[in-house]
Amino acid sequence: MESIHLLFVIATGLIFGSFITLASHRLPRAEEIIFQPSHCPACNATLRARDLWPVLSWLAERGRCRHCHASIHWRYPLIELCTALLFVMIYWQYGWTEKTLILSLAAVTLLTMIVVDLEHYIIPDLVHCVLLPLGVWWNISALTDAAWGLLLGLALGLALRYGYRWLRHKDGLGLGDVKFLAVAGVWLGPELLVPFLFFSGILGMGTALAWRLLGHGRKFPFGPALAASLFICVAYPAAPQAFWHMQMWVHR
Ligand SMILES: [Zn+2]
Repeated sequence: MESIHLLFVIATGLIFGSFITLASHRLPRAEEIIFQPSHCPACNATLRARDLWPVLSWLAERGRCRHCHASIHWRYPLIELCTALLFVMIYWQYGWTEKTLILSLAAVTLLTMIVVDLEHYIIPDLVHCVLLPLGVWWNISALTDAAWGLLLGLALGLALRYGYRWLRHKDGLGLGDVKFLAVAGVWLGPELLVPFLFFSGILGMGTALAWRLLGHGRKFPFGPALAASLFICVAYPAAPQAFWHMQMWVHR
């Protein structure tokens, strides 16, 4: 891996990370995402280029707004660093390929979804509108599989949602989660949907536990588990394969 390429990947990751902090703030508030200039949420001052260096501006001003000195949450630089890390992991796995481009765009969308769901308990429809065409692009040579995956994902999502409601007389799976299962089906095809649900369940239990330990109550966002599981199953096909091997081993 050439270091100049790596630097480029890290810089691009940081810039997209900065975009995620912006998008995750504006999406749930139905604000315009791209063309409105950035401003400080506390004092409304328009931010200039020197305020917008990912991580570096935050460090230089010691986590405060340069205009009103309101403190800026550490999660902003953390999101930027996570995005850069994901970009490096994708580049590491797939090099300079079309796959790296598609996966990086998906990673940006999934991270935005995670941040919004953690804060607001919703998965914005824009997430599905971006992930769907990216999934078609990813599977452009296996569109029949993608179509079956879409149908199966939708069916499973609806069955889980209305099955849970019928059994427990309350909502378990939100409609945003159901739509996400359908879109995940496009990415994964029918065969990988099963391990995807398995990993989502495990990660979801982890989230539920962490949510309760943090004192946020019983209702927890399922989006982060779904997003992480989709990314793992798509970017690291060895994970769902290991799941099928484990099944064969159990049933032997
Ligand atoms: Zn300010």
